[in-house]
Amino acid sequence: MFEYDDKYEALNRIIRECNNIVFFGGAGVSTASGIPDFRSKDGLYNQHDVRFDDYSPEYLLSIDCLMDHPDIFYEFYRQKLNVEGIKPNGAHYKLAEMEKAGKLMGIITQNIDGLHQKAGSKAVAEVHGSTLRNFCNKCGRKYPADFIFKSETAIPHCPVCGGMVRPEVTLYGEALPRDAWMQSVDWVKRADCLIIGGTSLVVNPAASLAYMFSGKYLIVMNRDATSRDSAASLVFHENIADVMARIEL
Ligand SMILES: [Zn+2]
Repeated sequence: MFEYDDKYEALNRIIRECNNIVFFGGAGVSTASGIPDFRSKDGLYNQHDVRFDDYSPEYLLSIDCLMDHPDIFYEFYRQKLNVEGIKPNGAHYKLAEMEKAGKLMGIITQNIDGLHQKAGSKAVAEVHGSTLRNFCNKCGRKYPADFIFKSETAIPHCPVCGGMVRPEVTLYGEALPRDAWMQSVDWVKRADCLIIGGTSLVVNPAASLAYMFSGKYLIVMNRDATSRDSAASLVFHENIADVMARIEL
């Protein structure tokens, strides 16, 4: 382990040495942009909204809720998950720069806000999908985010076939999208450096990716301790955007 002041020097030394870096990120990457962390004290799960008090947040974002009570699902979804007008922060932009510089192989994200792409990143595997994409349950036609967020009816329906339009988001009770998952496993296995950022590593199966890494350097950047801290070459419990800002390319 390194002394505090040397940690950033060590971080830059590792970034200089490695050209197949993979970033695996969670909610903490987006909190600096004003998106609530689902599990933190001030996050979505602790916003006691009277209207939804009869249901757990896990239920409100589950496939069961979408199928059995779509009116409740969409009301909650529209109130809580609209990212219109939300901008990427320094961490998103630094990762996009690292990709352009040929350092970063890919970003694996548990976030569903599309902020990495907004910051300019191209190689992004969204293991929980994205609120920016929607599709008709019946005919498969694709629709943009506004189709749900600005829908005039409680439940958005496909104008072509009448099927229900739903977000391409992995809900509780659903499997992860296969392509994004396979891409993530491939990246992690080929990485020389894995940076785990803004995730407490409690949500499986995505969190199991952290254990598949067998490359040279594991770096953890998360406000709270994680289950991989003890295995890491470097651990930062500081704000992830502040840590990223000190990476020199
Ligand atoms: Zn349709």
